[in-house]
Amino acid sequence: MLDVFLNYACQAKCPFCYNPPLTPELTAWKLPLDRLAHELLEGHKKGFRGVTFSGGEVTLLAELPTMLRLARKAGYSSIGVISNGIRMAEESYTRELADSGLSFACLSIHAGEPALHDELLGVPGAFDKAARALDRLEALKIPAVLNFVITRRNVAAMPAFIERFAARPGVVEFQLYFPHYEGLMTVHADALKLPVGDVVPALTAAFARAQALGAQDKVFVYNMPPCSLPSIPRERLRNWEEESASLLIDPKGVEDGRFQNERRGRYKNEKCRSCALDARCLGYENGYVERYGDADLRPVKGT
Ligand code: SF4
Repeated sequence: MLDVFLNYACQAKCPFCYNPPLTPELTAWKLPLDRLAHELLEGHKKGFRGVTFSGGEVTLLAELPTMLRLARKAGYSSIGVISNGIRMAEESYTRELADSGLSFACLSIHAGEPALHDELLGVPGAFDKAARALDRLEALKIPAVLNFVITRRNVAAMPAFIERFAARPGVVEFQLYFPHYEGLMTVHADALKLPVGDVVPALTAAFARAQALGAQDKVFVYNMPPCSLPSIPRERLRNWEEESASLLIDPKGVEDGRFQNERRGRYKNEKCRSCALDARCLGYENGYVERYGDADLRPVKGT
C-alpha cells in the first residue's frame, strides 16, 4: 500500500497526534497536485495498486475528489482515505468521494461513546458525525477500517469501542494503535503515556468482546513487538516487522526508500540475538523505550 501524506490541517486537536503542533505555515501546507500525480505514477510503476491518503485531515482539501480521480486514472484499484469522519457525515460529500474513486476509508474513532471521543478530539459532535460517516459508507458498500489510538485517557474504553462497532457489516477491520511518541504525543506524553503491561487487561477484554461477537479476526494491534504482548496471538500484531508492501510518501512529498514501519527509530538489544524473531523483528520504538525502558523485551522461543 502506498501512503501519501497530503496535508497537516485538521479541525480536531487530538493530543496524541504524531504530527507537530500546527502553525499557520503547516496548516496552509498541502502536497501540490502535480507532485501527487508524479508520486502516484511512480508508485504504480513500482507495483503498488493500493493507495491511502493521510494527513492531517484530508477531507479539508477541496482537491480531494480530484486527487482520488488522479489515483484511479493512474491505475490504482484500491483507493482510501484516513479521516476523522466529520465531513464524511454529509451524504452528498461521501457520495462525491465514492464517485471519484474512493474504495475504502479508515475512520479514526477513539472511544465507544460520544463524550470521550469528542473530548479527545476537542470537537463536540465528532463521534456522532463519524458514526454517520460509517452509515454513509455502509450505504455505498465502501468498507471501513476503524482505528483507535491507545492512551491512558481511553484505554479502558477499548472493549466498549469494539462492542459498539463489531456487529456493523461495513467494518472490515479494527486497528488498535500504540501511539508513536512524536509530534503532539511527545508534548502530552505525561498525561497520555502508559506501559504496555497496563494495556493488556483492556486488550484482552477487547479481544474477548470481539470473539463473543464473531469479530476476532478483524482485530489487529499495531506498533509493539511480539515479546511485549505474549498473550496476544502473533497473527493479530502488525507493524513489528519489515513490510515491503507499505511505502510512505512523506510530508515533503518524497519517499526516502524506507518502508512505512521502518521509518521510526527502533530499539533492540543483545537479548534479541537469542530471540527466534530477531531476523524479522524491528524492535521497540525508541520513544517507548525512552519512557519505559526495555524490561518487557523478552526473547521469544520457537517461531
Ligand atoms: S526480543 Fe527483540 S527481536 Fe524478539 S520480539 Fe522482542 S524486540 Fe523483537
